Amino acid sequence: MKAWIDGELVDEENGLVSAMSHTLHYGTGVFEGIRAYGVNDDTLVFRLMDHLERLERSARAMHFDIKFSLEQLRDAVIDVLRHNDLQDAYIRPLIYVGAGSLALNFHASANPLSTMIAARKWDRYFEADGLSGISVVTGIGRRLTSQTELHQAKVAGAYANSYVATMAAQKAGADEAILVDENDCISEASAANIFHVQDGVLYTPTCRTALAGITRDTIILIARQRGLKVCEVELTADDLYGAAEIFLTGTACEVVPVTAVDGKSIGEGAGAGTVGPLTQELHTAYQRTVRSRHSFSSNTWIGKQTIAA
Ligand code: PMP
Repeated sequence: MKAWIDGELVDEENGLVSAMSHTLHYGTGVFEGIRAYGVNDDTLVFRLMDHLERLERSARAMHFDIKFSLEQLRDAVIDVLRHNDLQDAYIRPLIYVGAGSLALNFHASANPLSTMIAARKWDRYFEADGLSGISVVTGIGRRLTSQTELHQAKVAGAYANSYVATMAAQKAGADEAILVDENDCISEASAANIFHVQDGVLYTPTCRTALAGITRDTIILIARQRGLKVCEVELTADDLYGAAEIFLTGTACEVVPVTAVDGKSIGEGAGAGTVGPLTQELHTAYQRTVRSRHSFSSNTWIGKQTIAA
């Protein structure tokens, strides 16, 4: 596979990183997760410019001087898809710091900053497809919130916390962890936002501690377009236990139903533990939106000639 590194396409395995890379030691990297979808012979990179803008904001929060414009990064994404002959793909940009000073506060002249874009086929984040659900546990992990200037940044080091939470969730027999904030209110999953449905209304935690997910935003827009009410509120685990439906949203996992929380089936009566109707409807609508060329002005459409050059 080819990756784009600082303006050049190289074989991924030749994109060497020093064992003394600052990012490797301290997690001082910023990244994005983006999806591209094949639409007949063409390819749609869903909300690409929104993702690249968030990458830029994450980099700024880390005091990085970014060397490339958003347009250059967009063209690099197109190049990577084209050279790897990918249509349905998960795209991973990463800005990382090389070797030099081991001090935390390195200077740009001491440690080089690199920008990398790679892509993969990655059909499913969770084993379950959109029409079967996953199980989650609460009370296992806490979202890191004290660094407020970083809580909207996708910083590599912050994912060690998410990693530990998902490992603990899996050891407890569940698929995923739901992280809480400093007040024990629900924040989000390890790398996805959470929604629940009650009496036909959608509820999701505010972005005070949760990442303002692009999928979360997409689902809120889709739901409102369909006349559904969406409330951004503080939620507790009790709200989840009593919910009619729950689902997670994220670029990698898309819309994933949650059918059990802390071992309790979600929903009532015959529907308990099964995927709810609103979740199914939003899942289907999301799949249509991510393949619809004009759904967002930040989409990037790649015609067949471009992708198959
Ligand atoms: N929260 C966290 C911590 C994440 O890493 C992600 C994935 N980027 C999300 C939520 C979902 O965000 P998005 O919909 O933009 O992928």
